This record gives sequence, structure tokens and C-alpha cells, in this order.
Amino acid sequence: MDLSIVIPLYNEAENVGPLYAQLKTTLERVGREYEIIIVDDGSTDGSPNVLKRLHERDIRLKVIRFRRNFGQTAAFAAGFDHFQGQVVITMDADLQNDPADIHLLVEKIEEGYDVVSGWRLPRQDPFLTRRLPSMIANWLISQVTGVHLHDYGCSLKAYRREVVKNVQLYGDLHRFIPAIANWMGVSVAEVPVRHYPRRFGRSKYGLSRASRVLLDLLTVRFLLSYSTRPIHIFGGLGLISFAMGIGLGGYLSFAKFALGQDIGDRPLLLLAILLMVLGVQLISIGLLGELVVRTYYGALHKPIYAVREVLD
Ligand code: UDP
Ligand code: MG
Repeated sequence: MDLSIVIPLYNEAENVGPLYAQLKTTLERVGREYEIIIVDDGSTDGSPNVLKRLHERDIRLKVIRFRRNFGQTAAFAAGFDHFQGQVVITMDADLQNDPADIHLLVEKIEEGYDVVSGWRLPRQDPFLTRRLPSMIANWLISQVTGVHLHDYGCSLKAYRREVVKNVQLYGDLHRFIPAIANWMGVSVAEVPVRHYPRRFGRSKYGLSRASRVLLDLLTVRFLLSYSTRPIHIFGGLGLISFAMGIGLGGYLSFAKFALGQDIGDRPLLLLAILLMVLGVQLISIGLLGELVVRTYYGALHKPIYAVREVLD
């Protein structure tokens, strides 16, 4: 098996048929062994029936059907747990991506890249509610994670097998896979792909996604940089705070005992106490974090490294 196509799908009854037909044409032309995995994320329209009919005629089409709507990330995770190919390609089910672009990604992977991300050009979505927030998000994510992509939100992406088999997906984190995978030291490329307006069905997301992406970015940044050493970030802040508190306290003591001033009504006293308490608390959180991290990696047997190959 060479290629696995993983497609999350939620209420896309009118899109399934044309999507399948276009995929078939493209994949036959690419000429590799392939499988198509469509993850039905709890659709409540006609999608399950259409998928069932298609599956009956095609053994290369796997359908994983969720009991209810678990979200796009969960659908990706299920696809990643089940695929068998050497390269996995993800895309949307709504025909906004063009299956015909798959070969562009495959070519890049063959050049030696581990992750290839599509870049929707030109993007066919409303400017104010979609393109603008996404421009800001792409810039921020690039700055914060150090993986510079123009279009994190594009679902049309390709990964080498090992990359996604090693990535644990939670919450809404699927758009950060290239950034998370970068932790392992992967090489990431970007190719322009076509994008179309949605013809059938409705978008499942609104503007509220923007704030969630921001919070997720915070999580990703923390997981990438400090998840194995929380004491470094919390302890560092704690030490600074505690030192400033001690400094101020020292100054106030000097004012009181050496100069005989009254310090009881000085706001600085409050600040000194606050900083010292805060410092102690931050250091304690860091230590607790260290305990949590040890159980986390221990219980899940999660490696804290990623091996490319072993020459034995
Ligand atoms: N999707 C899904 N589960 C969800 C929401 C969306 O599987 O809970 C699928 C949806 O069917 C589509 C893809 O994820 O194939 C992208 O969704 P959508 O087109 O609504 O997002 P947009 O393109 O508007 O960002
Ligand atoms: Mg879409």
C-alpha cells in the first residue's frame, strides 16, 4: 500500500458522490496502490447511506462511522489509527479541495519531505470572517511554533507514515500537526493548491473558531517547549518574582530599621509580600508540574524522543 487518503466527513451527502468519483479518477491516474478512508463523524443526513453503497462496490474504500459527532480532529485521529499506506493524505469532504492536486503533494514527499502542506491559492472564502482571521492566525502560529506555513488551516496535506503514527491528537489540534511533528525534526514543505467555494452543504465552523485556535496555540507552545520540564518555566518566573519581593522587602526593612521610617502604610510593602507569595506559588506549581509530567510520560510510555532510523 502506497497512499492512504483520510477524509473527515460530517453531513456532506451531496458532496460524497462527486468527491468519490473525482478521487477515483485522480488515484487511478497517479497509479499507486491506495486506499480511501472516509471517517463519517456522526452525520445525520444521507451521507451514511451513500457511503454504504459506495463501500459495497469498492473494497478500497474504508468507512469508519462514529456513533456521534466527535469533531474533525477525532475523525483525523481515527483515520490515522487505521491507515496502512506509506504516505497519508488528508483532505476535506466538501470539495473545497481538489483531489486532482494530490499528485503535487506526492511529488514533494518523493523529493524527501516528511510533511507537505497545501496552500490554498486563491482562497475562496469570505474575507472578514475567514481569510482575515486566518491570515493573523497563520502569522502567529508561524512565529510561535517556528514552523512557517502560509496556510495552517488547509486540510489538504500529506505526511509520511511515521509522522502521524507518532502524533497524539487531542481537542482541536489537527491544524497544528506540522508544528507538533516538527518537534520530531521533520522537514516541511508547502505547495500551492486550488480551492473552491462550497457548492453543497454548510460550513461547520464560525468565527468562534478564532479564539479556540489562539488558546490551542498556547497549549501547543507549552507542550512543545516545556512539557518535559515545567519547573523551568514556572520555576523561572517564580524565582524572578520571589527575588523582586525579597529585594523590596530588604529595602523596606532598611528604611524601617536604619532610617526609622514608618513603612506600615506603604503600597510597596503590599507589593513585596505579593511578589514573595507569588514566587513561592509559581515554584510549587513548577514542582507539581514535574510530578505530573513524570506520571504522564511514565503511564503512557510516551517516549521523550523520536528516532529516524537505527543502523544496527
Ligand atoms: N467535519 C467533520 N466533523 C466536524 C466538522 C467538520 O468531519 O465536526 C469535516 C467536514 O465534513 C469537512 C471538513 O471537516 O469535510 C471541513 O469542514 P468545513 O468545510 O465545515 O470547514 P471550513 O472549510 O468551512 O473551514
Ligand atoms: Mg470547507
